[in-house]
Amino acid sequence: MNGLAGEDLTSTAVLALLGRTGPMSRAALARELGMSPATVTQVTRRLLTQGVIEELDEQEPSRGGRRGRLIGLVGNAGRALGVKVAADHVVLVDMRLDGHVADTVTVPLDATALEAVPAVVELLRPFTEPADDVPPLLGIGVGVPGTVDRPDSGIVDAAMLDWRQVPLGPMLGAALRLPVLVENDVNALGSGERLYGRGRSLNDFLVVTVGRGIGLAVVAGGRVYRGAHGGAGELGHVPVRPDGPLCACGNKGCLEALISDDALLRTACAAGLVSADATPADLADIANGAGDRAERARAVLRDAGELLGRQLAGLTAVLDPEEIVVMGEGTRSWSWWEPGVRAAFERHGPRRARELAITVEPYTDTIWAQGAAALVLAACLDGGVGDVRPHRLVPALGGEKAGRRLP
Ligand SMILES: [Zn+2]
Repeated sequence: MNGLAGEDLTSTAVLALLGRTGPMSRAALARELGMSPATVTQVTRRLLTQGVIEELDEQEPSRGGRRGRLIGLVGNAGRALGVKVAADHVVLVDMRLDGHVADTVTVPLDATALEAVPAVVELLRPFTEPADDVPPLLGIGVGVPGTVDRPDSGIVDAAMLDWRQVPLGPMLGAALRLPVLVENDVNALGSGERLYGRGRSLNDFLVVTVGRGIGLAVVAGGRVYRGAHGGAGELGHVPVRPDGPLCACGNKGCLEALISDDALLRTACAAGLVSADATPADLADIANGAGDRAERARAVLRDAGELLGRQLAGLTAVLDPEEIVVMGEGTRSWSWWEPGVRAAFERHGPRRARELAITVEPYTDTIWAQGAAALVLAACLDGGVGDVRPHRLVPALGGEKAGRRLP
């Protein structure tokens, strides 16, 4: 794991397991990690002294033997800044090691403009100033609606932002002198789900997003699958109809060109349900109403659900997930999508998986930025990504090797 020395590796494994599954007893840690109780006792003693973990008052339920006190991460041992860059705004969260969000900021920003990156730097800067009453800053995570070569090098291609080979990671790192991890925004959500959401107890699951775009993060064996060039998970650009509408990617009939927010509004407008300048919320309001117009609006959303459900059936046949988690702003109308999703999934999905859980995470404005912050916290608990080792920068998490700053 990135060439960590023996004891670092053991501490990292303990921190990662506590981060992923929550508080555990020493005995459970030893069992899960396949380590001797003596090793776990030694490592936890060091981490307790460093203030990274703490003993909780709760105890593990008795199994006939001695009950063990639970050990958990200290939320205040570190924090990360998470940034979600969208075409017309930026959301920032200041998140603690245990997933608690201490602060959020949303500002309008034209991300396609030349000065977009310097503007993001200025937004971040006040949060990076050292202060006595805040935990040490481990690094900055950024989620972008595009393809990133590697999180630790952070070169971005994003058609939605009009970015080609933008070295976002190096630019932020040089300006703020902190470790920076950049990732596709849906992959970042996948990391967040794995660390703090439903994925905590899952090793193989899918995160599907609906809304402005249609996205997918594949978590396989506990890690987000990135593909050969970081481009895996582009569910929105799976070809669905050869003669379908033109997609932003230049191809015809992609899933996104049929069921994204814009596509649904176009369909609803053509059916005379909404005006040309309607928003997704307008369409949802009509569907939530009564009468013939509401019925027709619900049919538009149900049809979208059927198209999505068929794709989820195909993904399940290929990837065999334990669960599918649906997220994104489009889930506000999920009750009207769901019947179509479920019907198509049960018709086309593998027989063994007919009962597969397809669950919805409630949408919040900050959930994308929380995913971006989770990139840093996950890297810190897992021992780093490539050359970016956020945990080495903090005495509490890096032991005697702390204090190394990125060049
Ligand atoms: Zn496309």
